[in-house]
Amino acid sequence: MIPDWPSERRRMVDRQLRKRGIRDPRVLGAMLTIPREEFVPHDSRICSYQDEPLPIGYGQSISQPYMIALMAELLELTGVETVLDVGGGSGYHAAVLGALAARVISIEIVPALARVAGQNLSRTGLDRNILVVRGDGSLGWPEAAPYAGISVAAAAPDVPQPLLKQLGDPGRLVIPVGGRQDQELRVIVKSNGVTEEHGATFCRFVPLRGDRGWR
Ligand code: SAH
Repeated sequence: MIPDWPSERRRMVDRQLRKRGIRDPRVLGAMLTIPREEFVPHDSRICSYQDEPLPIGYGQSISQPYMIALMAELLELTGVETVLDVGGGSGYHAAVLGALAARVISIEIVPALARVAGQNLSRTGLDRNILVVRGDGSLGWPEAAPYAGISVAAAAPDVPQPLLKQLGDPGRLVIPVGGRQDQELRVIVKSNGVTEEHGATFCRFVPLRGDRGWR
């Protein structure tokens, strides 16, 4: 039996997002329309809307829907921004950001995953404003900087300086920072020349690799 994906999506939005306090109507709308089932590996499709991360191969995983919605909400996007998505993985998170911003650069360090993300985005027709690049996102992607939003989906030991440098003003950066196992999702807000930082929640992400990640 083929699941009724739109109603699975609605249930996920009600039970996992609204109930936990996600309020931004644009974020809820994006989560209602982006087909997560198209971004998870075939044999775990049935689990697409479960309240958990899912393996995508290469020891990596696609984040829990709530975490993606929360990170997107914290960026406070209005639709005019250029956003950097670090840790492209399956391309799902990039697709959500693409529905909320003008343009998304999604950078992925594992070449095979960058290819998968590109394929998933073009198959679903969501690649119109999303560019997938292969590289070390711990160094950002200076070519399209400054970014009004930067979203990092892998855990860093510290906030990478190159990302702070490429963050625009105004700009918002969300990134899990902490140990290899447990981290805090940090929000860095740049506005009128002032940079402020606060914690949003505790979380568990796969490690950020590369120059400013874990060796
Ligand atoms: N956002 C993804 C899943 C994130 S999993 C999705 O929606 O599916 C974290 C991803 O970050 C993995 O794909 C991993 O390969 C990638 N990654 C880790 N370190 C990186 C780095 N320095 N630069 C770019 N990508 C990195």
